Amino acid sequence: MLRVRFAPSPTGFFHIGGARTALFNWLYAHHVGGTFILRIEDTDQERHIEEATNVILSGMRWLGMDWDEGPEVGGNYGPYFQSQRNGIYGEYLEILGKKDKIYERDGAIYFRVSREPQLIDDLIRGPVHRTEEKDFVIFRSNGTPVFHFVNVVDDAAMEISHVIRGEDHLSNSSKHVELFKAFGVPVPKFAHIPLILKTNGSGKMSKRDVGALVEDYRRNQFLPEALRNYLCLLGWSPKDDREIMPIEEVIRLFDLCDINKNNARFDDKKLAYMNAAYVKNMPLEQFLERSKSLLSDFNVETHYVDQVLTICQEKLRSFGELNHFVSYFFDENFDYDKGAWFDLKKRDPILRIGEFLSAIENTEDFSEQKLEEMVSKLAEAQGIKTGDYIHGVRFALSGRTVGPSFYKMIVVMGRERITRRLRRALVELEKWQ
Ligand code: GLU
Repeated sequence: MLRVRFAPSPTGFFHIGGARTALFNWLYAHHVGGTFILRIEDTDQERHIEEATNVILSGMRWLGMDWDEGPEVGGNYGPYFQSQRNGIYGEYLEILGKKDKIYERDGAIYFRVSREPQLIDDLIRGPVHRTEEKDFVIFRSNGTPVFHFVNVVDDAAMEISHVIRGEDHLSNSSKHVELFKAFGVPVPKFAHIPLILKTNGSGKMSKRDVGALVEDYRRNQFLPEALRNYLCLLGWSPKDDREIMPIEEVIRLFDLCDINKNNARFDDKKLAYMNAAYVKNMPLEQFLERSKSLLSDFNVETHYVDQVLTICQEKLRSFGELNHFVSYFFDENFDYDKGAWFDLKKRDPILRIGEFLSAIENTEDFSEQKLEEMVSKLAEAQGIKTGDYIHGVRFALSGRTVGPSFYKMIVVMGRERITRRLRRALVELEKWQ
């Protein structure tokens, strides 16, 4: 039976690297039909353990990574907090004592290493040989157990079959193999996942780097499915060009031997692009519901709000930008973007806005198709490009040069709104000429 675990220390943060380690454990457990365990390694933590643990638990749940055994769900191998396992550590210490594998010096308890080369048969890195030359402390003089000891005791007692963790622990593994052997239990298989480097490639990503914490994405309204999809690709790929993939498909394909041996590089642009793709592909009902829960109180009729949101879905990159993205639809006194106006001036926008205004005053049919024809005719008559109308009029209607599809926007705003806004723009923008 395959049993894997994610064993975070509750530091108060849930780092992208930790989330990726958790995810690879979770994916592998689901791929094989094994058990995914969450264990909180809180032996060295002194303060705020509860809050710090919650950051991890809620981050895991937000990313849709449920665990089969661990805090809040229980299981047959508990407790799942190291701070509650002192009795178990005492028993395992006794085993080592009986085998004469420990001794005391200056109040600390040392483990006697075999000094023989240890093989770490790593599923990602291949075989690694290391010899521990020096005995090491497993209980400090103040009576607290050391990471190597509790980590191995827990893996042994919880019958962990595969240890999948960050590469920064590879150098600890020979100590761990020594301990497993000393206890007389099977050594689990190891899989050390390569590091995540910063976007610019300059070293390992740390919790101080921008975009390094799961909670930041949550606060900025990223879609958890998008972040999870992105994390799948940080060191693993389906061996074809696919990037956006349903999680069921990743589970079906995921295997440890396909994890890249090279370090992964964090690419915030790719993550933003994936989030935009997930926003665009959301079922409309879901998109509307989520958008409305985030929308500022604009005091406008629901039908208009629904129409605005519907045409904005394909262009919105993140729910964190939603209020800004749609604000001018609901506020007639929006500001005009001066920088954008500067670039627009060469297209004679005031002239174009005026011509467009007269043309729609004479247009009965306000459909996308008719409006498109109308703009083409105008452009043809003046011997200019339709873009000159589209850019100028969009600016007059929104104060910006980007937004949803131009013709959809006109249809949704409707004749009255459009006319009012164009008139206002003619007055206001005249002052900027
Ligand atoms: N508590 C360790 C960490 O957060 C886990 C080590 C392991 O997975 O074995 O780095």
